[in-house]
Amino acid sequence: MISKLNNKELDQKIKSLARAENRLLALVIEHIKEADKRRLYLDFNYPNLYDYLVKECGYPGGSAQRRIDAARLLAIEPKLKAKIESGEINLSQTTLLQKAFREKSQTVTLAQKRSLIAKISDMTVNESQVMIAKELDLKIKEQTKVTHQKDGSVRFEVTFTQEQWESLQKAKDLASNAIQSNDLPTLIKYLSDKFIKQKEGSTATVAVKKQVLQRDQCCQYKDHKTQRLCGSRWNLHIDHIKPKWAGGTDQIENLRVLCQKHNHHVYHQQSGIRILSS
Ligand SMILES: [Zn+2]
Repeated sequence: MISKLNNKELDQKIKSLARAENRLLALVIEHIKEADKRRLYLDFNYPNLYDYLVKECGYPGGSAQRRIDAARLLAIEPKLKAKIESGEINLSQTTLLQKAFREKSQTVTLAQKRSLIAKISDMTVNESQVMIAKELDLKIKEQTKVTHQKDGSVRFEVTFTQEQWESLQKAKDLASNAIQSNDLPTLIKYLSDKFIKQKEGSTATVAVKKQVLQRDQCCQYKDHKTQRLCGSRWNLHIDHIKPKWAGGTDQIENLRVLCQKHNHHVYHQQSGIRILSS
C-alpha cells in the first residue's frame, strides 16, 4: 500500500521507479532503432515508423517523434543508450539535437554529431539548446511574429537579447508573489498595468490642477547650483513633488507646474532612484 509508506520510503520508491523508467525508456529506444532498421512498419502496412508507433503502438504523436529522434541518434552513437539509462541525457535533449541536425543536414558531420551527444550529457535542456546553437551556428531568429487569432487572442513570437531576457526573468522573480504565476503574458500584463497606473495615476481633479496652474503660472524647476527658476510657460505639466509611487498625494501642496523638459528630467531622476531603492 502506497499510503502506508513513510516519507523516506516514498522518496526511495519514487527514485527507484524513476531509474527503472529510464532503463525501460532506453530499452524502448533500442527496439525502435531495430524496428527502424528493419522497416518493420511496412509489415503492418504503415508508410513510416511514426504512423506505426502512433497507430499500432498507441504513442501520442509527440512521444512517438521524440522516441524516433532518440532511436536515430542511437543508431549513430551506441553510447547514447547508457546515457539515457542513467538519465544523463533526456528525450527533450535528443529531440533538440535531431532538430538542429535536420536544419544543418547539409553540413553537419558524423563526428560533430557524436561530439555533441557527448557534450549535452548532464546539461539542462536550456544549456543544451544554447550549446547546440553555438556549435552548429544555427541562425538567430529575430523577426517578431504577431498573429491575431479567431477568439481575439494574439499569438506573439519574439526574440529577446540575453540582457532583455535576464531583466524579464528578474522582474518575474520580483513579481512572483503578486501574480502567483510563471506565465510570461501574465507578467507582461501585470507590469503594463503597473506602468499605466503610474503614468495615469494622477487622480488630481481638474479643479485642483487649475489651482496649481494659477498659483505657479510657470515651470517651477530650480537649478540646484544657481537656484534660478526655469520659468518657462511653454508646454506645462502638473508634477507630483513626492511621486505617487513613493506615497505622494494629489493634494495641492504636493503638486507643482513643470515644463515638458523638466517634467522628463525629474521623471528620469526619480526612476533612477526608484531602481536603486528597489
Ligand atoms: Zn522648465
